[in-house]
This record gives sequence, structure tokens and C-alpha cells, in this order.
Amino acid sequence: MLNIDSLQTGIVIDHIEAGTSMRIYDLLQLEKLDCCVAVIKNARSSKYGRKDIIKIEGNVDVDLDVLGFLDPNVTVNYIENGHIAKKKTPTLPKYIKNVIKCKNPRCITTIEEGIDQVFQLCDEKTRRYRCIYCEQEYKRPVD
Ligand SMILES: [Zn+2]
Repeated sequence: MLNIDSLQTGIVIDHIEAGTSMRIYDLLQLEKLDCCVAVIKNARSSKYGRKDIIKIEGNVDVDLDVLGFLDPNVTVNYIENGHIAKKKTPTLPKYIKNVIKCKNPRCITTIEEGIDQVFQLCDEKTRRYRCIYCEQEYKRPVD
């Protein structure tokens, strides 16, 4: 069991919207990591009321593009020697590759195998993305 308060080296993804941490866990493919991962749900937050937190032990890198796509409000803390060495706030990526799948049954990515699933940001305000092949808009399951 990972003692979450004594993380020496690792990453803390903080201020995750409450209830969405497992989606981030899945899309970052954290189950594939060998290191300790702790998911804390519904932690108290002075800023947002409730939040989720993910803590990952060890020298790992997380995909900030995926995080920015999923939840641009998160903060990524890089822990070294038990202290926060740096903080990063992900931004909305212009493109996301192989994170979400196009739902259009006639899209080339559905018909043919081995084609990268690429979505392009089409509206920054509403965080909307479209498939670059067929322009089908991606519908977010949460909002
Ligand atoms: Zn498509």
C-alpha cells in the first residue's frame, strides 16, 4: 500500500473534478505501470468543494496532452525528495492521438485497422474536438 503522505519521488495529479479520476486512470493507462498508484476520490478541496487526486510513485511521465483534453483544471505536481519540485497546468492540446475513438461507422478509422485516431481542437471555449478524417464531433460523456 502506498503511503500517500510520504511520497518521495513521483507525480500527484491534483484538483481532478470529483468522480472523474477513474476515467483519467484509464485513459492515461495507469494500470500498465509497475509502480504504486493511489486514487483518492472525493477529497475535500477549498477551491472546488470535492476533488479527486491521483498519486503515482516513481520516475514516471504522464501525458499532459491527455490530461489537458480530459480536464484542463488539474494541477500536476512533480515530487522530488518529498517536496514539490515543479507544478504544471496542462493546456488544451491542438491534436489528440489514440485517446478517443471516432464513433462514425463510415469513418476510415472504423473501417480500416491500424489507422491512428486523431482529433483536432475546433473550438477552444467549448473544448470541442473533431475527427480529422470525417469531421465527426467527439461527444464528451461527462458534459
Ligand atoms: Zn472519423
